[in-house]
Amino acid sequence: MASSDVSSLCFACDKQGPRRCAKCKSARYCSPSCQKEDWPTHKLVCSSFSNHALSKRPTDEHFRVLLFPVDGKPEVIWHASRWIVDDQDDEEDCRFQSFEVDSILGSETFPIRTPIQHNPRLNRNLLNTIQICYRDTFLVDGSKPNRSVARVTSTRPGLYHDWSGPIFACGKIGLGIDQQKCRDLDMEDFRHIFDYFLSYNAIPATAAQTIKAVRINCFGDQKMCNRPAFESVEILSTDPIFNDHDTSEIANRIGFPIFTHRLPPNPVWAEDQDNKIFKNFNPFNNQDATFLHLCCDPNVPFNPAAGTLGWGLASTQWQTYVGSALVVRPDMKPLHPLHVEALCKYCHNDIWPFFSHSLGEYTPEEPMKQEAVLAMICRPTFVISWYKLLDEKRKNGNAVKAPYPYDV
Ligand SMILES: [Zn+2]
Ligand SMILES: [Zn+2]
Repeated sequence: MASSDVSSLCFACDKQGPRRCAKCKSARYCSPSCQKEDWPTHKLVCSSFSNHALSKRPTDEHFRVLLFPVDGKPEVIWHASRWIVDDQDDEEDCRFQSFEVDSILGSETFPIRTPIQHNPRLNRNLLNTIQICYRDTFLVDGSKPNRSVARVTSTRPGLYHDWSGPIFACGKIGLGIDQQKCRDLDMEDFRHIFDYFLSYNAIPATAAQTIKAVRINCFGDQKMCNRPAFESVEILSTDPIFNDHDTSEIANRIGFPIFTHRLPPNPVWAEDQDNKIFKNFNPFNNQDATFLHLCCDPNVPFNPAAGTLGWGLASTQWQTYVGSALVVRPDMKPLHPLHVEALCKYCHNDIWPFFSHSLGEYTPEEPMKQEAVLAMICRPTFVISWYKLLDEKRKNGNAVKAPYPYDV
């Protein structure tokens, strides 16, 4: 396809796009229906782009880039570049222009610059390179989830990559691997940037499936809504828990990883906490969920302000006012209520006593070493606990039909 053709195509399909967005006069469409389809993402940048006057360029080394702040929405800003001389290069012009990254990504991190030269959603090759700049270690360095990117991906149902920390997209002239010069991004680039986030590691809604999850019901939901302690529920693979969750370190250690997420309280009991039905308990009480989240990391400090209480204790969000919790398997395979019940009982009845021992609960015994406690948290001890639970259930006359946890 000739380049002149590409630069006049509709933003949403393969046809020519003579129509323009009335506000920014930049987005191109073939038809009202394509414009309508594009609007949920286009509206995130249409006015920011319209208000961005090219005449206000601070210096000729500033270029228009698209910022994705951690909180907020995508924002069109001027951003500085600088010329760097490559001493290793023998060629005549060994200078190249690079965007400054520290002021946006922070100086304590290694920046990644991922080039985009193809749009997989539109199956279209780009005429110039776009770079997506983000922190190398954003998944593990405590970076906050990036809500601006989430605003883009939430426009289309699907399951998307967990982007965190500040991110920005910028333009380089040309293709290949070593583009020498920077350039302004335009509305068409924004389309490609959004499509990058909408396609990277994404499971589109057409592949959305129903997933068997488990609810650990709090005291309020059990007493006032007659829900069982462990309840099988169905959710979609697009459920936010797959993007925003906590996990159980004990479950991870025994090779049965889970995602967990606190559910909003039901006003039926949340607004009636003094009801006699609760006696002296709080309806938010969810001991099973609390024990599931005991901290196994000896290096986690006691820092209630930051939400951590340290070794052997659940973080503050799982201590008080917990409410009911949702649990899923990260691989989306079916999770049985009995699996979660076994995990919770294991944490409470089998593992918690070791933690208390290590915390000096059994003096005059010398407290158990933390390594010894960790050594007890393993698949064999969980399997023993699993069979013990099945035996108990059968003794109480319950027909137990749950698949072996590790076979699923
Ligand atoms: Zn179209
Ligand atoms: Zn527009």
